[in-house]
Amino acid sequence: MNTGLASVSRRRPETDIEWKEGARLDGLNSMGLRAAARLMAVVRTEQALSDFLEWAAEEGEDFVVLGEGTNVIFAKESLDLVVLRLAGDFEDFAVDATGITAGAAARLAALVKAARESGLSGLENAWGIPGLLGGALAGNAGTRDWAIGDCVEWVEVFDRSGVKKRLARDEAGFAYRRSALAGRVVTRSRLALRKEARERIEEAIARAAARRSGQPKGVGSSGCIFRNPPGDSAGRLIDAAGLKGLRCGGAMVSPVHANFIVNAGGATGADVLRLIETIRGRVREKFGVELETEVRVIPSKG
Ligand SMILES: Cc1cc2nc3c(=O)[nH]c(=O)nc-3n(C[C@H](O)[C@H](O)[C@H](O)COP(=O)(O)OP(=O)(O)OC[C@H]3O[C@@H](n4cnc5c(N)ncnc54)[C@H](O)[C@@H]3O)c2cc1C
Repeated sequence: MNTGLASVSRRRPETDIEWKEGARLDGLNSMGLRAAARLMAVVRTEQALSDFLEWAAEEGEDFVVLGEGTNVIFAKESLDLVVLRLAGDFEDFAVDATGITAGAAARLAALVKAARESGLSGLENAWGIPGLLGGALAGNAGTRDWAIGDCVEWVEVFDRSGVKKRLARDEAGFAYRRSALAGRVVTRSRLALRKEARERIEEAIARAAARRSGQPKGVGSSGCIFRNPPGDSAGRLIDAAGLKGLRCGGAMVSPVHANFIVNAGGATGADVLRLIETIRGRVREKFGVELETEVRVIPSKG
């Protein structure tokens, strides 16, 4: 029966937003998991992001922000949620004499290269870290003795109610592989760098590249799965527990680096999550250490 009542559903904003129903995420995660989201919105401007956030709030739609998917595991193949991606204006960046101002969708690798070409030091340790600036800031990506938060001057974020804020580094809550930015939408940041001789920069990049030689290559992975416990290394504990090469379905503990899980062929998110739990259990049993995940699990529902 037609009641004549207008639909309560708000129209999706269209300007500078691309909507994809049943969006495939297969190419959007470095583990190579097959997955699809109920809905994806790709926003290209700040106004479009505001419009998206207003729509999501009015519709009661929860959403997850996805960068390049190099630090995420999709829990299931079918995700009943909205995925937000930034593109367009958010990919832009500008280099000046004292740093780089960049959108959250700029590739970290492009920023490292631009800094090198401009004789600016501070980002050399990010050499080889895949993904976009927003993901790097949300997780305070880094190495053993450096993290992206170290060179942040400010970060711009939108909270879920659409309020835009510029946070100074101290307000961003940077800590070991975490920040207070996760849960908000990071849109832009200013990275403060310093002038340095080209030679020194090249040397630092070469050292960073050499440190990566012990990582698996040419296979799907999500980087380090676990955070290092205080004073120890997750890889060392997993290796000492004899777990290199252990498999759950298509997911395998890398024989090259024990803190990497690799897709040995047709792995599903469920395989990876089962393997993570098995590793945690064995390390707990053997060493009494509770490993915490560094990788972000995207749930099957928002
Ligand atoms: C081979 C390999 C090597 C790696 N080496 C390192 C390393 O040395 N050090 C290191 O720290 N990491 C490493 N990683 C992990 C990963 O590359 C980084 O964490 C990267 O910064 C994630 O960026 P992304 O765009 O892929 O984020 P995604 O994986 O897409 O997202 C990661 C998290 O950030 C959130 N997020 C993404 N964008 C935004 C945004 N704009 N606003 C708010 N939240 C957002 C997501 O919701 C998610 O929770 C490695 C990964 C691989 C595959």
